[in-house]
Amino acid sequence: SNLPSITLNNGVVMPQLGFGVWQVPDDEATATVATALEAGYRSIDTAAIYENEVGTGKALASSGIAREELFVTTKMWNSATETWTREGVLREFDASLDRLGLDHVDLYLIHWPRAMRDDYVTVYRTLVEIAAEGRAKAIGVSNFKRPQLERVIADTSVVPAVNQIELHPNFPQAELRAFHAEQGIATEAWSPLGQGRGLLEDATLARVAAKHGKSPAQVVLRWHLQLGNVAIPKSATPSRIRENIDLAGFELDADDLTAIAGLDTGTRVGPDPDDFD
Ligand code: NAD
Repeated sequence: SNLPSITLNNGVVMPQLGFGVWQVPDDEATATVATALEAGYRSIDTAAIYENEVGTGKALASSGIAREELFVTTKMWNSATETWTREGVLREFDASLDRLGLDHVDLYLIHWPRAMRDDYVTVYRTLVEIAAEGRAKAIGVSNFKRPQLERVIADTSVVPAVNQIELHPNFPQAELRAFHAEQGIATEAWSPLGQGRGLLEDATLARVAAKHGKSPAQVVLRWHLQLGNVAIPKSATPSRIRENIDLAGFELDADDLTAIAGLDTGTRVGPDPDDFD
């Protein structure tokens, strides 16, 4: 496929469009990820808590695609406080590699900061060690707000390569995106389609989609690419999996972007990281 890539702050190249597998059961993950790889996706976003690293790993192994062409992300979960220690993180990371059947991942993320517990810097320091060993080609965070980003940068001097955050036209995260750009942190959008539901039925998106002969989902994903985001849409439906990566050959113009900017409602589909333990 001719999908664009971005270069992370440590030189690692990451596809701008990936496939998210949250809520795909482990026994379906192998077939679903295989469909995505056949459709042209090369980047897969999983997490320990999704409990589908085994099924995902099987699809990667049997795909016949060279490891260096794949970009695999997984995440450290909000485990027991005892686990949020150096030893605990190393154990969790090894367990993820084992389940995936890989000797390295391309990106390892802290899934949520749990800022109220005040122990995410310990976890981040351990990710820095894992990256130094080459067992994660890049490291980053997810659901971090500016104060937590500033804290890990101040304490380790290692700028996260990525912050994966909720981001879609109803919740476009302009301030955090600007801060990321200033710091050299790539913005990765989770729930990039706003989880489907209301967003994809929006009349403005329908109008823009009709204008380009594309679907509302394709318009939203094109919007992410033009903003410079990495996006990781999820679908279990083969036709939608293919539709969501078929984004070449059209571009949103200034009028389209203004119309989509009008969809900002400031409402999340997921939890506010400040409250999520
Ligand atoms: P999403 O925005 O990708 O929406 C997925 C849903 O949209 C599908 O289940 C389907 O109902 C609908 N859909 C998909 N393609 C469509 C199409 N072409 N036409 C019509 N409807 C379509 O939501 P998501 O699954 O929440 O997020 C994507 C990925 O982001 C996840 O799989 C996961 O990898 C990641 N994620 C990360 C976090 C985090 O805390 N880091 C949280 C949530 C999700």
